[in-house]
Amino acid sequence: MAERHLDACLLSVGPDLPWLTGYEAMPLERLTMLVVPRDGVATLVIPRLEVPRVVERPDVFRLRAWGETEDPVAIVAELLGAASTAAIGNRTWAQFLVALQRARPATTFTTTSEVIGPLREVKDPHEVGALRRAAAAVDRIAAELQAGAVTLVGRTEAEVSAELGRRILAEGHQRVNFAIVAAGENAASPHHEPGERVIGPGEVVLCDFGGTMLAEGGAGYCSDITRCVVTGEPTAEMAEVYSVLHEAQAAAVAAGRVGTPAEEVDAVARAIITDAGYGEHFVHRTGHGIGVEEHEDPYIVSGNRRPLVAGNAYSVEPGIYLPGRFGFRLEDIVVATDRGPDALNRADHRLVAVDA
Ligand code: ZN
Ligand code: ZN
Repeated sequence: MAERHLDACLLSVGPDLPWLTGYEAMPLERLTMLVVPRDGVATLVIPRLEVPRVVERPDVFRLRAWGETEDPVAIVAELLGAASTAAIGNRTWAQFLVALQRARPATTFTTTSEVIGPLREVKDPHEVGALRRAAAAVDRIAAELQAGAVTLVGRTEAEVSAELGRRILAEGHQRVNFAIVAAGENAASPHHEPGERVIGPGEVVLCDFGGTMLAEGGAGYCSDITRCVVTGEPTAEMAEVYSVLHEAQAAAVAAGRVGTPAEEVDAVARAIITDAGYGEHFVHRTGHGIGVEEHEDPYIVSGNRRPLVAGNAYSVEPGIYLPGRFGFRLEDIVVATDRGPDALNRADHRLVAVDA
């Protein structure tokens, strides 16, 4: 905060608060906000009725419970004291920021991603362990999918998505974040919403799923994996396109060495796909950081020249999408280490033909 000339940080709903304290604010119209001054004691302003949810941490913050007839924005405004600059959580609701701006017209507001983002994007061993456990859980689900244990043919995408969600919870996640199931031509839409389309034989089924798994200390860490299967034997074209993608993904994983600019990882995958003639069908960045949020820094995208540092955790998920026909994506979570890239997801990377 001193480096960034910030006098205070204000954390509410969103991942920064649980990341720092283990406490997750309820997403309600009643304001919960941790006021962290650059010097002095942090204060958690919290609705009185939610105090029983808080594990008190007097060494970290004190509590300021507010009653139903009090104005929590006025309390925060007063706690800001002489602060002239304050960072507020990126995910904090606009209604609270606007009210604070009215209460503190002389205070300049910025976002916490400037000060907490650089901290959150470098995972410590405890966090890497949490990501590894979450990755192993979705790897087991992917292996079952590839083994034919998840019925596909004759079911709708939405039904398969619901089953993946149940498996995500059964594998120890606290919540399901998404379970994309895209069959046939729908697999060519990268963020397809699973619907009533019935899966048939001989089709590509793209499954991209993940959740949040609670770790010691109260914060949750995310999983995120994509595997594609074919309900029957892949056509020669499917096999050809997938082999290009497989090679590109593996090369991009291997390229993730400490000191390598993030955009270089994207460039490695993109060059292989472009050289094979599919460049125009790779329509998104190669990956995103992951931690307490599914998508966070560092982004693996052209233009991000920041070098990878040990502890960066990110996805490598190139895709090739042929509109109206089929598409493929292959995704692993990778941690940059001084010994080279550590791929957390180990589920089979081949295009598996399933009888399911
Ligand atoms: Zn994904
Ligand atoms: Zn992802």
